[in-house]
Amino acid sequence: MMTSAYNCPRCGSENTSTFPMIHLGGTTKGSFGAVSYGLAAGLVGTKGKTNTQNLLALQTSPPTKPGYAAGDLILGIMVGGTFVLAMVSAFSLFGYVPVPVFSFIIFAAGLACFYYFRSKQVNEKVNEWRQAIQQWENSSMCLKCGNAWTAQTHK
Ligand SMILES: [Zn+2]
Repeated sequence: MMTSAYNCPRCGSENTSTFPMIHLGGTTKGSFGAVSYGLAAGLVGTKGKTNTQNLLALQTSPPTKPGYAAGDLILGIMVGGTFVLAMVSAFSLFGYVPVPVFSFIIFAAGLACFYYFRSKQVNEKVNEWRQAIQQWENSSMCLKCGNAWTAQTHK
């Protein structure tokens, strides 16, 4: 990355760093001594440079990658269970007792249906996340005035 070409659009300072660099702590502590980053400056002011660096690392965190949550499994089981319940009530109308193995297949089908639709949602979110990650990688912060901006990418 040509970090030297990244001058702050607000104050023109060359003392800038990219978000990934700041987040990984790739900037020297000395630079952080000059940070007057707009928010919470008073809060961290007395606690020294380490906290400032942690705060900056937090503010420059990459967007979290979306994925399946623990609740998805519970939801999937509920959907599968609803399928089985629907089947049992349908069969009981005709006086049949469903075979347990058959119930399991219906349950698995319900679970599969749920994950089919959920995976579409997750894929969309992952695509959005990829774009966000690109923006994050192209974002820089001025360590002099605290200005943050995203460089335009031409591909
Ligand atoms: Zn600046």
